[in-house]
Amino acid sequence: MTTDPHHLLRHTAAHAADFLAGLDTRPVATTADLDDLRAVLGRALPDEGVDAVQVVDDLVRDTAGGLLGSTGGRFFGWVVGGAVPAALAADWLTSAWDQNAVLHAAGPAVAVVEEVAGAWLKDLLGLPREASFGFTTGAQLAHVTALAAARHKLLADRGWDVERRGLAGAPAVRVLTSGRQHNSVERAVRLLGLGTDHLRAVGADEDGRIDPAALARELTDDPTVVCLQAGEINTGRFDPFGEACDLAAARGAWVHVDGAFGLWAAASARHRHLVAGVERADSWTTDGHKWLNVPFDSGFVFVRHPEAHRASVSTRASYLVHADETAGSPARDQLDWTPEWSRRARAVPVYAAIRSLGRNGIAALVDGCVEHTRSLVDGLGALPGVEVLARPVINQGLVRFLSEDGDHDARTDEVVGRVQRGGEAWFSGTTWNGVRAMRISVVNWRTDERAVERAVKAVRDALG
Ligand SMILES: *Cc1c(COP(=O)(O)O)cnc(C)c1O
Repeated sequence: MTTDPHHLLRHTAAHAADFLAGLDTRPVATTADLDDLRAVLGRALPDEGVDAVQVVDDLVRDTAGGLLGSTGGRFFGWVVGGAVPAALAADWLTSAWDQNAVLHAAGPAVAVVEEVAGAWLKDLLGLPREASFGFTTGAQLAHVTALAAARHKLLADRGWDVERRGLAGAPAVRVLTSGRQHNSVERAVRLLGLGTDHLRAVGADEDGRIDPAALARELTDDPTVVCLQAGEINTGRFDPFGEACDLAAARGAWVHVDGAFGLWAAASARHRHLVAGVERADSWTTDGHKWLNVPFDSGFVFVRHPEAHRASVSTRASYLVHADETAGSPARDQLDWTPEWSRRARAVPVYAAIRSLGRNGIAALVDGCVEHTRSLVDGLGALPGVEVLARPVINQGLVRFLSEDGDHDARTDEVVGRVQRGGEAWFSGTTWNGVRAMRISVVNWRTDERAVERAVKAVRDALG
């Protein structure tokens, strides 16, 4: 059995580096199908162990063709970020250290890394310094955490202790959205027992921005969360935060912002105006694994009201050593701020990404992605039979492909499929205002002008 860590990890690092070095030349699309993958990976459960070097070598060989090139610069599907080198390297260290980031006492260094990274994030994103934060698997769990804090405070303000009494008999908590929210909001509403009957779409303009007049009409004095978006999922548009926050404040509503990718506009002097007023919300979610280019998984929640945040998720057990029971200045226990118990030291790669890029590097990453999105959409829009549906304000754009027979939806799906199969670039399809479209999303530090040229050429070829 190989137990020498130097040998095994160097060997594995060479495989990993080979994978990254091939991103520019391999097809972005997968080439192995489901049956191929099951045939090679679906071994019988071994009775006897296999040497670690062989396990690694086999994994590399057997997954070949089944790995999407989504960490490369020619992937523009969904909103999937890459991984900056320092974050990737720090992620390896995180695994080697194998700290349980549940409590300060279980790994003091990684707990302090999380404290520091949380403060850096608030600074970069222009959020209130006094806001509490949690590092979650992604925006999905960040929504759950934020809405749990909202549920706590909205009901506590009305004399109802939801953690003790539960929701039966409590006043219903309404959740108002533009109707263009990401599905993860609805799922958080379901998981928290708020009920999708109480989720109400007030209405949006064509680009997906919440309609303030409609919001004003829907707001009542009942416990209410107003869920806004920094970066609508198709167009990347921003809700009018200042206006919506004024309306919500007048009714005592909690404002939650889904900024999974778009909140990063705040990190750029050039694009910060898009999020004007966002700092007035009560809670925010964003991701590390999208625009910050930290490897999966990495999400963040921030809450203006630390007491509500803590009251909704924190816990105490006699067998643990809680930070506030130890002498000296109170340390920060991670389990007080997320619904998780044992967990990976997820803040370490975040700390590394921020340090390696710096404030200016992060701004340049955001600005560069926006520029590449614009040149992609311009390049595609100049091709015959291409209609631009949404010009980018940040890193998202929409185009569709026109057919002479008038069935533009079928033509669009056909061209998207052809581009994907071609392997030179990868875009995903979507439905937007009732029509099929190709969604363009740029959130990778590896995307450069050359990648944009290759992608435009790939679409031109697919148009036939
Ligand atoms: C990706 C995304 C989410 C979900 O985030 P995860 O990190 O995948 O959990 C939520 N909202 C928006 C706008 C997103 O783009």
